[in-house]
Amino acid sequence: MAAASEDSLRRALAEKQAAADAQADAVRVLKSTPGVAPAEVDAAVEALKALKTEAGSAARRLQVAVTSNGGDGVGSREAFRQAVVNTLERRLFYIPSFKIYRGVAGLYDYGPPGCAVKSNVLAFWRQHFVLEENMLEVDCPCVTPEVVLKASGHVDKFTDLMVKDEKTGMCYRADHLLKDFCKEKLEKDLMLSPEKAAEFKHVLAVLDDLSAEELGGKLKEYGITAPDTKNPLSDPYPFNLMFQTSIGPSGLSPGYMRPETAQGIFVNFKDLYYYNGNKLPFAAAQIGQAFRNEISPRQGLLRVREFTLAEIEHFVDPEDKSHPKFADVANLEFLMFPREQQLEGESAKSMNLGEAVSMGTVNNATLGYFIGRVYLFLTHLGIDKDRLRFRQHLPNEMAHYAADCWDAEIECSYGWIECVGIADRSAYDLRAHSDKSGVPLVAHEKFAEPREVEKLVIVPSKKELGLSFKASQKMVVEALEAMSEKEALEMKATLESKGEVDFHVCTLGKDVVIKKNMVSINIERKKEHQRVFTPSVIEPSFGIGRIIYCLFEHSFYTRPSKAEDEQLNVFRFPPLVAPIKCTVFPLIKNQEFDNVAKIIDRSLTAAGISHIIDITGTSIGKRYARTDEIGVPLAITVDSTTSVTIRERDSKEQIRVEIDKVASVVKEITDGQSTWDDIMFRRYPSHTSAQADKE
Ligand code: AMP
Repeated sequence: MAAASEDSLRRALAEKQAAADAQADAVRVLKSTPGVAPAEVDAAVEALKALKTEAGSAARRLQVAVTSNGGDGVGSREAFRQAVVNTLERRLFYIPSFKIYRGVAGLYDYGPPGCAVKSNVLAFWRQHFVLEENMLEVDCPCVTPEVVLKASGHVDKFTDLMVKDEKTGMCYRADHLLKDFCKEKLEKDLMLSPEKAAEFKHVLAVLDDLSAEELGGKLKEYGITAPDTKNPLSDPYPFNLMFQTSIGPSGLSPGYMRPETAQGIFVNFKDLYYYNGNKLPFAAAQIGQAFRNEISPRQGLLRVREFTLAEIEHFVDPEDKSHPKFADVANLEFLMFPREQQLEGESAKSMNLGEAVSMGTVNNATLGYFIGRVYLFLTHLGIDKDRLRFRQHLPNEMAHYAADCWDAEIECSYGWIECVGIADRSAYDLRAHSDKSGVPLVAHEKFAEPREVEKLVIVPSKKELGLSFKASQKMVVEALEAMSEKEALEMKATLESKGEVDFHVCTLGKDVVIKKNMVSINIERKKEHQRVFTPSVIEPSFGIGRIIYCLFEHSFYTRPSKAEDEQLNVFRFPPLVAPIKCTVFPLIKNQEFDNVAKIIDRSLTAAGISHIIDITGTSIGKRYARTDEIGVPLAITVDSTTSVTIRERDSKEQIRVEIDKVASVVKEITDGQSTWDDIMFRRYPSHTSAQADKE
């Protein structure tokens, strides 16, 4: 909601409450004043009641405004989550790892249906991205030597600010504590003044920007203590999220478990470029485990310490970021949340992707293309398009080198969760590894005809600089060589007119005086046969576990049992994602039906359709409920020796199919060639749901 209306609701509530308090005082005075007529007291009490009612409804309006799902949104979201998580854990979609030893926070196993869902999601990812774009898939080790992660910046900067409970030593993420405090105040403290509310909102907006000192200052100012014990907290300090190890027995070769898969691709750029015929653009892809020693993981599968990432690095000429297939996605319309809307307190709005790129809201067509493909990927899996938005990073969230970044965020009971990051990281990563390794990770554009170009040549005189700056000579040389063309030409002009110039050397943190004999700066004309450049990289990075968890929530619903005496759980997974595509139930236990079930079993196996046969003697209704609960789309009931019924999970509609056609009908649906509705329409052209057979 717009900040202004929440603000006015807070003001209205404060006014109504003040009026009710004043009236309560007036009633008290009247009651204690001798000789006041009872009618006058009654009238004042009535007025007080009316004011209290008004304050109550103002409070309710504000409550609705501050919680996204209405007044009881938080409670119902948690109840919904509990129902989903109970089902997921009971049916072994996932299991807390090492459970018999009381588990480890942030580590989970996928059980049989979870494993199947994950492998279906990854198979579709490969088909939708790797196959569609002819990407070069690689598979690199998780154990990574320190030098690689030093070059990428992870050793120095992959940190979160942590605070410790001063008595128990329990660790917390400092920004999470501050965020929780501000959010709770905004959602639950309805008597918060509009000024204080604005302050908390501002803190939330700049949270990512706060230094350790600023964060510590805020925690102290608001009196925030350890959530579990209420003990005082230490000052925040950076904690590196990588798991450290050493490679080999000597302990002399430090390494880390990779925090992302991308670095494996960057360091292979030279070979992959050659493999691709020295041509750009091309993309490499990798699916693999990533490890992050999260400080205090919570939110189940959403924040874990080991997870599967699927990453794409699309290498492109920085001077041409068009995409030949952009037209395929240009007409898509979906929720986008550009920077401006966020800064103005507005909400995400439906935008046409083609327009977003042509207006410059999205930096370039290749980035736009991937945003569109990610939208198609997620919605195809079953993510609700109304609970999916693409949010642009605010300037303070984006690395300084990045040209533009968008996160695919999915709304679930925990709020809007970043599930895919899509970033134009410019040439940063390849440059960083070129510098550190000394191996140029560059691309070449060969010219048809040699071109005459002007080149800036800066030659510092090491001898003269050494005489003047002694030990600092190297730093001065590097700073001179790193000058931009504009800086260099200005220096040349000043040296020619004045003979010397003040020059700031960042690495020394001071100005030095450069004399004319210390550097030569010239523009030279050269013939060049090719352009050598560092490609830009556009990186879509998918947190597979987060996508799967959101998919679980978006697919889950309950419906009453036939006898209406209990609520049954259902996952409405599309066939593509469903862990098992169909079940086979002999209606009653007899040899003939068992034989038919065996024939169907063989034909389903031959067609490559995952299925289970349930021969338990329980009622057919119970058997349906059991498979609905793991999201099996089709159930085959063997109720004769010539044909069977196939029942669809969500509509509960049934059709009769001859035994030798069962596998092909099931395959048609689970392969996505036809939907259930297509099949119903073919059989009953004037079919409506009400006319269909139901269980
Ligand atoms: P990042 O490199 O931080 O942008 O992360 C890339 C993707 O990994 C994010 O979009 C998330 O989907 C996912 N991700 C990051 N951290 C975690 C975590 N601790 N647990 C699960 N998924 C994560």
